[in-house]
Amino acid sequence: MRIVLVGPPGVGKGTQAKRLAEKLKVPHVSTGEILREAVREGTPLGSKARETMERGDLVPDSIVDEILRGKLRSKACENGFVLDGYPRNLEQARTLDGFLGESGRRLKRVIDLEAPDAVIIERLSGRRSCRECQANYHVKFLPPARDGRCDQCRGELIQRTDDRPETIRQRLKVYVEQTQALVELYEEQGLLRRVAADRSVEEIGQEILASL
Ligand code: AMP
Repeated sequence: MRIVLVGPPGVGKGTQAKRLAEKLKVPHVSTGEILREAVREGTPLGSKARETMERGDLVPDSIVDEILRGKLRSKACENGFVLDGYPRNLEQARTLDGFLGESGRRLKRVIDLEAPDAVIIERLSGRRSCRECQANYHVKFLPPARDGRCDQCRGELIQRTDDRPETIRQRLKVYVEQTQALVELYEEQGLLRRVAADRSVEEIGQEILASL
């Protein structure tokens, strides 16, 4: 099953994509996670993307397209995938169609997660991630048992550099200007299902499953 999750930053795409991928037994492909890992490891890809990500802007299509192509060609994605963070603009949507078309594949469903801006800003600004295992927490909604430490590996909890207030504003602006157009595109193609994301992780997950 080939599924794409769209929606503004902080709406919970990563959390839902991970759960859904486990349920469907297909890989979770997150371009944001792949880029963050490259930045952490200081690879050439990471150094190309770091500044743009810290500003809250989109890294060039040529970079993310290359990442995606590699993933989609891998054996792991043969039976499907849950894609989160790609496509981010109309050009990337065309590229994705092209990559899939090369092997006669098509998207099965696009899930649009939506929540009011105030909810998104509160989620993003309170988010903390483990420096070691990247598990996510929230200062209010999902606090760790011990302040500042990951429950799973005891790693230090830090704030993503792009979760700072000025970058959050820029990421939301980029979403409205470049990514939101995808919702219309996929709606016209009959692939879109809207799911309200201002609810519990469990409820959202159930509705996503029901919409496939
Ligand atoms: P995310 O974790 O999906 O919010 O992505 C974090 C950051 O990685 C974004 O703000 C962008 O700078 C970059 N990024 C991730 N996916 C893409 C993409 N498909 N196109 C361009 N930039 C991306």
